[in-house]
Amino acid sequence: MTAAHSGQSLWFPYAQMRDLPEPLEVARARGAVLELTDGRRLIDAISSWWCVIHGYNHPVLNAAVTAQLEQVAHVMLGGLVHAPARAAAELLVRITPEGLNHVFFADSGSVGVEIALKMALQFWRNAGRPEKSRFLALRKAYHGDTIGAMSVCDPDDGMHALFRSVLPPQIFIDPPRARPGEIATATLDQDLARVESVLREHGHEIAAFILEPLAQMAGGFVFYSEAFLTGARDLCDRFDVLFIFDEVATGFGRTGTLFAANRADVTPDIMVLGKALTGGYSGHAATVATSRVFEQFFGDDTARAFMHGPTFMANPIACALMLASARLFETENYLAKIARIETILQEELLGFEHPAIQGTRVLGATGVIEMKSAASLRGARTFAAERGVWLRPFDRYLYTMPAYIIEESELRQVTAAMKEFCRRI
Ligand SMILES: *Cc1c(COP(=O)(O)O)cnc(C)c1O
Repeated sequence: MTAAHSGQSLWFPYAQMRDLPEPLEVARARGAVLELTDGRRLIDAISSWWCVIHGYNHPVLNAAVTAQLEQVAHVMLGGLVHAPARAAAELLVRITPEGLNHVFFADSGSVGVEIALKMALQFWRNAGRPEKSRFLALRKAYHGDTIGAMSVCDPDDGMHALFRSVLPPQIFIDPPRARPGEIATATLDQDLARVESVLREHGHEIAAFILEPLAQMAGGFVFYSEAFLTGARDLCDRFDVLFIFDEVATGFGRTGTLFAANRADVTPDIMVLGKALTGGYSGHAATVATSRVFEQFFGDDTARAFMHGPTFMANPIACALMLASARLFETENYLAKIARIETILQEELLGFEHPAIQGTRVLGATGVIEMKSAASLRGARTFAAERGVWLRPFDRYLYTMPAYIIEESELRQVTAAMKEFCRRI
């Protein structure tokens, strides 16, 4: 079937519209389960691009939306303020690593990344060093789909390579090879030597080093050592380069700690949050900066001010959701739920072998089967849907990143569908 059935008025993401398989139509959803208009029920194995961490239709989040709606649904942040904005900023300062003290809101992860990049550029302009205007990034990185964010994504990735000639040319190094938990090995030394060598050569023109800490997700699920972050933090300080953590995907528990930064006990200069920030109820992002960054913009001169302001920044409903979501995370002990998911994923996926499989890996509430070839995954979506599971593999990766409230039986149904599909190849 083709998209002709849905008409062409709705343009879908990352899809050739001519070949688009008929999208599944969702009528309602609850917990980890999507209910389709034809009555079928699918367990959502990827929590709607990793953001619906509490599951769908959560009574506490629903109540937070309703209560805020009855006060004010939206009001601009230019010259006006409201209690949820103040409280959400205080919340993020409290839960992010020590030293991140100033919160700038935006409406999506990509824009949060743009803000981080622009903040780093203006930081050095305000400091009288405008030549520091490039970024260091990792190959296999994914930071979003807008122009600035694309410029720090993997430069060879098919998704963005088309635009290479119009993107600002950044500097790339290979992702770390040292794996989570690996410290003081020759591999880690080599990983850090690559950073040192590029900073020695280019540090004078680099504004910031941006990465997804601990786990590169949409660029290909590279999980790497927390000790790399500690070492890179020292190198950034030595070479006067800001360090930016894009925690849009890793934030709010996905790697097993509240933030990936916690695992390394590192404070970046700027941290970007998105996706799960509102429990997946509304698009919002936060770019959180240290006082050192903030103070570079502070003073008598209006030209030093940060000239940015998304229309919907600090939307009251989004802020009310952040507060309710974070409260649930703490009171329902989500870190324990995530540890339990990790154990089940390890049991089910690690050691699973098949000639078509390159490898399997698990980190926190993320489980991945990497195939040798992307072609092997053709038909995986339909296969899983027939078994009551919603999966959306990309490239060579068949993966799950479920809601943290997923039941054990539901999660085992997800991994069973993943493995059954592989066995059929
Ligand atoms: C999804 C993602 C983004 C982009 O967020 P959007 O809300 O889709 O714009 C940026 N960085 C990372 C690490 C992501 O996973």
